[in-house]
Amino acid sequence: MIRCHRLEHRFVCNFPDRLEPGVLYVSMEFGTATHSCCCGCGEEVVTPFSPTGWKMTYDGETVSVWPSVGSWTLPCRSHYVIDRGRVLEAGHWNNSQVAAVRQRDITTSASGDTPAATTTPPQPTSISTVRDEKLLSWWARLCLWLSAWRR
Ligand SMILES: [Zn+2]
Repeated sequence: MIRCHRLEHRFVCNFPDRLEPGVLYVSMEFGTATHSCCCGCGEEVVTPFSPTGWKMTYDGETVSVWPSVGSWTLPCRSHYVIDRGRVLEAGHWNNSQVAAVRQRDITTSASGDTPAATTTPPQPTSISTVRDEKLLSWWARLCLWLSAWRR
């Protein structure tokens, strides 16, 4: 059960020893956010940001965290989404879901963070293209000159 339906964000340098419920502490320095579990159990939930992990979106007013926060290591097994400062319950974890996510996390960290080469290297401009452009501008100038002369 979610008790806290809103999370107010707070950009901090260091996380406080005691987390205030209903506050999402975001540290850009550590690339991590933390908050007191929204079920009210008082457990600390840490969401480190990484290319393969959680991502934070700040729209100038509210903060969203994606994907969902699944506290499957906590006794409460809370699972929710932080969307624009709102806490949306995302259904309870069952044992097979926990096992699947655990497996996915292991696979993701094992494969590493090396991004696949999706961009093609820039192609050098071919000399013939440059020549054609010069030729075209030469013709364009000649045509202009001819049309002016004809008048
Ligand atoms: Zn909890």
